[in-house]
Amino acid sequence: MHDRDCLHRFMFEHFPIRGHLVHLDSAWHALIEHHDYPALIRDILGETVAASLLLAGTIKFDGVLSLQLQGDGPVQLMLAQCTSGLGVRGLARHRAGSSPAGGIGDLMGAGNLTVTLETDDGTQRYQGIVPITGRRLAESLQIYFENSEQLPTRLWLHADARGASGMLLQRLPGPASEAADPAAIDDAWRRVQLIGETLTAPELSTLADAEILHRLFNEDDLRLFEPSPVYFRCRCSRERVSGMLQGLGAAETRSVLAERGEVEVRCDFCNRAYVFDAVDVEQLFKAAVAGGSSVH
Ligand SMILES: [Zn+2]
Repeated sequence: MHDRDCLHRFMFEHFPIRGHLVHLDSAWHALIEHHDYPALIRDILGETVAASLLLAGTIKFDGVLSLQLQGDGPVQLMLAQCTSGLGVRGLARHRAGSSPAGGIGDLMGAGNLTVTLETDDGTQRYQGIVPITGRRLAESLQIYFENSEQLPTRLWLHADARGASGMLLQRLPGPASEAADPAAIDDAWRRVQLIGETLTAPELSTLADAEILHRLFNEDDLRLFEPSPVYFRCRCSRERVSGMLQGLGAAETRSVLAERGEVEVRCDFCNRAYVFDAVDVEQLFKAAVAGGSSVH
């Protein structure tokens, strides 16, 4: 049985190479339960979510990492957001009536992959943007790591109706103090990537992490750390929706209220409904005037 809803870190004892394995099970079901995605789109979204966790696991930060794919194809948007505490949410937007087929390049059309970090203090750390290329998300991420000043990194991803999984390998800056032979580290990095290539989707999605690592890297000494739980977490709140309505303006909000008797805003990520009646709406704009400034 594979490890469930967790991120597992591991280290090669003799080389500056580390890795992560991630699996989403209930977190994945919670993430897609209110959406009716075509299977192909669902699976790429799952890979995007798994990748966002693997990326977040490599960075020290307090905030939210967003992995976004945007294009002019049948699928316009794939978005996964992961907090530093490994809470994830995500969504895909596709053109109605389209029955997408092919690889990620066909689905997204001409577009970009963007990685952004938003720290808890509100500052944005822009990470990088690359064109979407190849058939698999992992290929575009490969280009991202080659083009940005990130550490050499490889990812393997798989998602289906049952879950989403991924493995990351990353080469760290070599230990300057030790008498480590740089050529030996180069060889090791080349070797572990080649071995990584032999990992099959069924192995990644069904085997326990210790078993995966034993099958792949039994020649190496590895240290497997305690797993960190991953979970579905939406960051929507009545406060945020109130701010959004205040941004929309009193006239616009009141006209929706007049037309429908209430204002209902549904979260695109978790489908939670926020309902504002006439009293709520008046309160919203009284508060904004009293506050003297927009909540945005
Ligand atoms: Zn939500």
